[in-house]
Amino acid sequence: MENIRIEKAKVLKAKPSLDGIPFGTYFSDHMFLMDYDEGKGWHDPRIVPYANFELSPAAVVFHYAQEVFEGMKAYRSPVGDVLLFRPTENVKRLNSSAERMCMPQVPEDIFIAGLNALIELDKDWVPNVPDTSLYIRPFIIATSPQLGVHASSSYLFAIITCPVGSYYSEGINPVRIMIENNDVRAVRGGTGHTKCGGNYAASIRAGERAEKKGYSQVLWLDAITRRNIEEVGSMNVMFKIGGKIITPALTGSVLPGITRKSCIELLKSWGYDIEEREISIDELLAAAKDGSLEEAWGTGTAAVISPIGEISFEGENHLIGNNKIGNLTQRLYDTLTGIQWGKTEDTFGWSVKVC
Ligand SMILES: *Cc1c(COP(=O)(O)O)cnc(C)c1O
Repeated sequence: MENIRIEKAKVLKAKPSLDGIPFGTYFSDHMFLMDYDEGKGWHDPRIVPYANFELSPAAVVFHYAQEVFEGMKAYRSPVGDVLLFRPTENVKRLNSSAERMCMPQVPEDIFIAGLNALIELDKDWVPNVPDTSLYIRPFIIATSPQLGVHASSSYLFAIITCPVGSYYSEGINPVRIMIENNDVRAVRGGTGHTKCGGNYAASIRAGERAEKKGYSQVLWLDAITRRNIEEVGSMNVMFKIGGKIITPALTGSVLPGITRKSCIELLKSWGYDIEEREISIDELLAAAKDGSLEEAWGTGTAAVISPIGEISFEGENHLIGNNKIGNLTQRLYDTLTGIQWGKTEDTFGWSVKVC
């Protein structure tokens, strides 16, 4: 691998207070970049001051959305170490997204070396207030200036980072979720299992409509039968029904979340039965009505575990667990955040020290 060239910023920015800053608006001093050209492969890995890109208006990414991304976090432990959570899982998923979108894969060693060097250089940006972290956004964009619909012949891989405040600054409050029965997010054979910008573009309309009605996110149904539950906005979803844990199977239109995978591994280690299978809206509503739906929660890097206190479908509302966080939801939250922030013993080997 080529050495990473480092160009340091001449002037460092002031660190913002994390109280109430909107998510993802304030970026650290540096970013990691690397170029790809057909015939040459990935080259020129570098860390440079955070700055705007210069791209041709004809760049493929602007017209045909050939783009994939990841979302991860760096956590400050009580002794001041900077930790990542299962970072190679993010590399694998970025590359599986890239494969679907006809984009070149980023070698794991370069991804990890670039990320570690960037975090080390900007380590003062990893906040040390409880429950805060440095959000990390790796992404690949297609840069060839060509309006014909073909895979680009050049790409840019970038990693940018931004400090984020506590997701639950006012305590963990269960969220209200609206089940969407008009728009769909993804269909089998499409790109639902990848983290690509296009999936999000298609989801914004339903999200805005739900927000206007006072719901925090949309629960998506499958695109074909419109009866089976898929996932919530940017989270996978799990239900505790009659003592069993049920989560939609990864059928191709659901994003394979790393938090989802970690929850399944934790729950199995605690002796729970987990069913990864089809679960229909009818089964969920029946369980809500007969009282066997004990808990529901979303899983994702941003919120970790997000209890769901109310679901709404076609104008009917159902409370879950009296709109309070359930015991198992709380235990998952405490265990995962304990491991991520280096506060509890990590028997799974998920936490990786950067510096
Ligand atoms: C990123 C994402 C998730 C959660 O994945 P994690 O790896 O747990 O952060 C779930 N659903 C969608 C659509 C996503 O983009």
